[in-house]
Formats: sequence, C-alpha cells, structure tokens
Amino acid sequence: AEPAADADWDGTGRTADDRPVGILGNVGAAGDARAAVAAGAGGVGLFRTEFCFLAATEEPGEDVQRAAYAEVLAPFAGKPVVVRTLDAGADKPLPFLDMGTEPNPALGVRGLRVARDRTDVLDRQLSAIAGAAADSGAQVSVMAPMVSTAEEAAWFAARARAAGIDRAGVMIEVPAAALTAAEVLAEVDFVSLGTNDLAQYVFAADRMAGALAELGDPWQPALLRLIGMVGRAGAEAGKPVGVCGEAAADPLLAGVLAGLGVTSLSMTASAIPAVGAAVRAHPMAAHRAAAEAALAAPSPAAAKEAAAAALA
Ligand code: PEP
Ligand code: MG
Repeated sequence: AEPAADADWDGTGRTADDRPVGILGNVGAAGDARAAVAAGAGGVGLFRTEFCFLAATEEPGEDVQRAAYAEVLAPFAGKPVVVRTLDAGADKPLPFLDMGTEPNPALGVRGLRVARDRTDVLDRQLSAIAGAAADSGAQVSVMAPMVSTAEEAAWFAARARAAGIDRAGVMIEVPAAALTAAEVLAEVDFVSLGTNDLAQYVFAADRMAGALAELGDPWQPALLRLIGMVGRAGAEAGKPVGVCGEAAADPLLAGVLAGLGVTSLSMTASAIPAVGAAVRAHPMAAHRAAAEAALAAPSPAAAKEAAAAALA
C-alpha cells in the first residue's frame, strides 16, 4: 500500500516527483512559531505545551492556558497544528504535576499516564486547547505523549472528542505502541513517532546519558526497522505517520524516513530549509532505495554511508 499522503494536514513539502511529505515545525513558545513560519513550515507537527508552564507551581487556569496556546497558534491561522497534551515527568518535570519520587522516572508515571491519573487536568487542558483553536483559527488536532496501548489511544481520542476536538492522534515513542501500530492507528486519526524516547526505550539507553549516545542514534538499523513497521501500518490504515523527534532534523535521515513511509517531518525551525531541500532533491523511489540500504546496514555509521551512496 502507498503511504497516506494527507496534504491538508501535513503541510506543503514535496519529493522531486511531487509526493507530499509534510515539513513542519516543533514549537513550545510564540517565538518558535514565528520562526517556523519564517522558515517555511507548512504547519506544526509538535507543540510541546509543557514548555509554556515549566516554572508553574500551580496548574494554570483554563483561561490562562487558552491565552498561552492561542499566542503560539496565532502565526498558523488556517494551517495544521498538532498540539501535544502535557508531557510531564522524567526529563520534563512539571512542579504542578509532581507525581512523587520514583526510582525510574523515565519508566514511571509520565505523559499520558499522568493524565489517566489526573483526568480533571487533561479535560481542562483539552477545553483550553479547543478554545485556543477557535481564537487563533489554526486547524488544531491533539496528540497524547507516552502512549503504550491501543486502549490508551482510544481513551484519549474519546476525551478529545468530548472536548469538541475531532482530530486526535498519539505519539509512538514506546516500543509496545510501535509493535501494535495497526491497533493503535485503528483508534486515532494519525500517529507521530517520537524518536528521542523511542530510541531510549528500544535500546534501554537513557536519552540524557551522553556516554550512551551511539545506542540512542536514530540511524541505528533496529530503530529504522521499527519506524518502517509503523510506516507500513500507516499506509495500510490510510493514515498519516509523522516523525517529530530529533531524527527529522537530519537532512539525510529525513529522506530515509520518507522512504520508510513517514508522511511528515516536524523539527526545529533552523532545520527546515535543509530538510525540505533534501526531501525535494530526490523522487520517492530514491528515498525508498536509501531506506532499504540503511535498513540492511550493521551500524549507524554504515547506515549513513549506505544511504548517502544510494542517493549518489
Ligand atoms: C520524542 O520523544 O522524540 C519527542 C518528540 O518528544 P520529547 O522530545 O518532547 O520527549
Ligand atoms: Mg518524547
């Protein structure tokens, strides 16, 4: 099956043979959003809402949240924006959602697991996001972080719909969710691969531990294989599969990801021009050939070399 090209929701990037691959911005504040627009982002693939409230010691009221989100959304009036609900815990602790001391915070109550425990906080945030969507005119969808099962995905999508947000997706950043991507996709409108956490959990290598950086390298063939599985599940379901981790900001890897069936790439504004150019430089068949070459390589360095050679 062909990957689901969803140009309306995935921005305006194109391969050399005119296949849409969304080129989107990662944002956490209004300045990021303006920078993403200036760099040519077709929309936002990841709005990290927790970045708005990193210092808050009490939950911001719904009106305060609505205003903060609307400010970030405003530059994207008429454009698609994926708003991620609060991803509290581990490397992004939020004082007002402190779940207590845990021996392994990265494996603890974080992301959607906090929302399952504090449904009231999630519902107030979803309501604020719906309000900000109306205020800004952006085409807003919502996305849950740290989802592990299709049941969690269904639960989140139902809560989003109850808040008046029709389009809901989840991040694929836990290996269990990647392995059950078909079932997860059946419950939501789209998924987005969080390669930072997915690499951490696939390799059992703390993303904050510099000494383990090679294990967390997104060029690891094991990670690429898992991404390819999710890409195929998306194509079969006819639903978009994004990447919003750091992997999307590497121009050579971006083409490989497109070749693995990824339909949009979301990244920091400064990476947008080079990644857009890399995707445009080759037809989809060449990106697929680069992906095949990388998948067959024994190491990250060999995968990079093989992908570059396939495009030369
Ligand atoms: C990721 O995990 O790849 C991701 C995009 O989310 P964050 O870096 O915010 O955890
Ligand atoms: Mg993550």
